[in-house]
Formats: sequence, structure tokens, C-alpha cells
Amino acid sequence: MTSDSVPEPTPLDASLVGRQLDAHHLPETNGRMATCRRCGLRTDGPDGRHAPAEQQLTQARRWLDTQSLSATIAAMRFQRDT
Ligand SMILES: [Zn+2]
Repeated sequence: MTSDSVPEPTPLDASLVGRQLDAHHLPETNGRMATCRRCGLRTDGPDGRHAPAEQQLTQARRWLDTQSLSATIAAMRFQRDT
């Protein structure tokens, strides 16, 4: 047993991250492919919701981190300018 192993992502994680992405923006697909053009992650259909694959979860979390970071920076700039 190794203590430093990364826990396996579960389907629950995928749906949670999918909901976070949905809350951030609606999936933008080209109407044919089940991929959001905005974040590059899988959706559950051309008109569906975000449904990142398990191997996309790290990428999805990193994307969300980047987004919240830029939102924080933008908010700080806005406060400084006013
Ligand atoms: Zn997206």
C-alpha cells in the first residue's frame, strides 16, 4: 500500500466537475461534436451538459482554477480602478 498514490477519480467527481463547468458557462459545441469549444472538455451530447471523461478531470479542475483565478484578478483590478 502506498500512501502517496493519487486517489482514483470516481464518476461522482466527473459529475461534480461537470456541474461546476455548467455553472461557469453553458457548453458551446459546434452542434455536431460533443466537445465544448470554450473549455475543450467533453459534453454528454452536441446539445448536452458538460460530462468530462475521467481522464479529463485534472484538466477540467485546472481549467476551473485558472478561470476563478482570472476572475479574482479582474475583480481586484476593477476595485483598484474605481
Ligand atoms: Zn465548457
